[in-house]
Amino acid sequence: MARQPIVMANWKMNKLPEDARTYIESVANAITAYPSVEPILAGQDVLLQSMVEAAKGTAVEIGAENVYWKEEGAYTGETSPKVVADLGVQYVIIGHSERRHYFRETDEMVNLKALAALRNGLKPIIAIDEQIQTVSNNEHMHWIVNQVIEALKGVTPEQMTDVVLAFEPTQAIGSGTAMSADMAQKDLYLIRETVSDMFNPEIAEDLRILYGGSVKPENVYEIMRQHDIDGVLVGNSALDPDNFIELVKLTH
Ligand code: PGA
Repeated sequence: MARQPIVMANWKMNKLPEDARTYIESVANAITAYPSVEPILAGQDVLLQSMVEAAKGTAVEIGAENVYWKEEGAYTGETSPKVVADLGVQYVIIGHSERRHYFRETDEMVNLKALAALRNGLKPIIAIDEQIQTVSNNEHMHWIVNQVIEALKGVTPEQMTDVVLAFEPTQAIGSGTAMSADMAQKDLYLIRETVSDMFNPEIAEDLRILYGGSVKPENVYEIMRQHDIDGVLVGNSALDPDNFIELVKLTH
């Protein structure tokens, strides 16, 4: 089965509800020329409802940037995956390196969140990171493999069809300089091999794995040429709707 490429914008804590609507209106028509690409926009919780409404009837799919691992209860300030799914959101980013770093999300929390997303019909895009120290200590392979194993604990083979993984080296995020495409390919191959060992080669072959970290129109073509890279997760560059359209076009 050919893996459908994804171009996903991660707006992080940017944009107002009105920007969300105008962004979606401006990309929706242009991207119909590239139906081979799955376009996804991820926004903060308070934007999700207006994003879902604006995306209705278009090819754009909507993702959340985080959810909690319980459906309901006394968890002041948290966001339920059940409610996010009920709004019509299809995807959720889990374990972004900013969440692991600033909000102390552990591998166990990432796993609980991934399982909760799946339980509630949301497709998790589980982010795997890499730190500069792990690279310089030559520990990065172990670091990556371990995150994949911990994140996917308890996920069933059937659920794997709804899982997407994203490799985002911390040092490349927001830096303006992406990891070289061939180095990213090696790390994504390692991730796919890990999934093959955990499940089976067919599941690994069908799994979509994204690269994220300073992707922009100037480098997306080279990144997407790599065998194991099935899409991109884009922060800064994709804040501009014209860049998002360009990224979809170059990925097509
Ligand atoms: P960036 O962010 O494209 O600005 O590097 C990517 C991400 O954090 O998902």
